Amino acid sequence: MTERIVVGAALLEAGRLLAARRSAPADLAGRWELPGGKVEPGEKPEAALARELREELGVDAEVMERVPGVWPLRTPFVLHVWTARLRPGSPAPHPLQDHDDLRWLEAGELWDVDWLDQDVPAVREVARRLTP
Ligand code: C5P
Repeated sequence: MTERIVVGAALLEAGRLLAARRSAPADLAGRWELPGGKVEPGEKPEAALARELREELGVDAEVMERVPGVWPLRTPFVLHVWTARLRPGSPAPHPLQDHDDLRWLEAGELWDVDWLDQDVPAVREVARRLTP
């Protein structure tokens, strides 16, 4: 079966990482993730990520660089992560769909939230970029 890409954002601002708490589906609700979603057929992953961030958080984000790694989700989905930042003038993120809480985490707070299991290796990779 063809792999389907799910894109996630390590949205960074002033050395902090945005974590988003899922409100649905029931088995994921209450767990924290890097916001993002499925790439639509024919869509570029970076464009999909900017679209998901606009839809889910109401922000105007610039997708920056790919965080190395491919993390398996439930078949056929795999997670790819990019760093991203808010463009000047972007609204602050607020949960519009899929999430019910957001937190900007300092480097020392990254493990204070209950990340989705599949996001943990990606967060670990991002953590290396936050702590020089
Ligand atoms: O957000 P959306 O429902 O489109 O995400 C598709 C699937 O990808 C979700 O069911 C979720 O399990 C998974 N996902 C994930 N980690 C993320 C984003 C999405 O595991 N950071």
